[in-house]
Amino acid sequence: MPTYSYRCTACDNAFDIHQQFADASLTECSSCGGQLRKVFGNLGVTFNGTGFYRNDSRSASKPVSSSSASESGGTTSGT
Ligand SMILES: [Zn+2]
Repeated sequence: MPTYSYRCTACDNAFDIHQQFADASLTECSSCGGQLRKVFGNLGVTFNGTGFYRNDSRSASKPVSSSSASESGGTTSGT
């Protein structure tokens, strides 16, 4: 049974509830009668624009010494 997180927009009351997939979504706060909003995922995670720094991890795994590798490979055929 999936767990849904709701949050009241009026009193800021957040709670989790076990619902069937076919069950209707809750729209009214049980404590204050305000409007509920369904919350997906973690509350602390927010994706605002470009928040990822992928260039940082890519440059770290990139091989830097490419000139020295080709240099030593060319001088081995001399016998
Ligand atoms: Zn409320």
